[in-house]
Amino acid sequence: MSLTERLSTIHFTVDETPHITVDGGRCLHCATHPCLVFCPTRCFTPADAGGISYSHAGCVECGTCLVLCNRAAVTWRYPQGGYGVAYRF
Ligand code: SF4
Ligand code: SF4
Repeated sequence: MSLTERLSTIHFTVDETPHITVDGGRCLHCATHPCLVFCPTRCFTPADAGGISYSHAGCVECGTCLVLCNRAAVTWRYPQGGYGVAYRF
């Protein structure tokens, strides 16, 4: 099964309160924007003026952005109970 097929089996209950926040001011000084590559579900997208847009709606809670953001712009916590990703194996 491909990664795309696996991701299509995931169910999300999106919390209105984001469990991840991104300090966009720091992103403006990030030269390489690695989050555009390392996030498996493409929650990070390019924005105007070299910035970054972020949406938590498709987040699979892998934590990669917290570890690999090179300017410590990401604040991360698990979604509150009953929200977030649900895996089916
Ligand atoms: S890696 Fe971090 S600082 Fe750089 S663009 Fe992504 S979220 Fe912003
Ligand atoms: S926790 Fe993983 S899936 Fe969620 S935004 Fe960060 S890198 Fe993307």
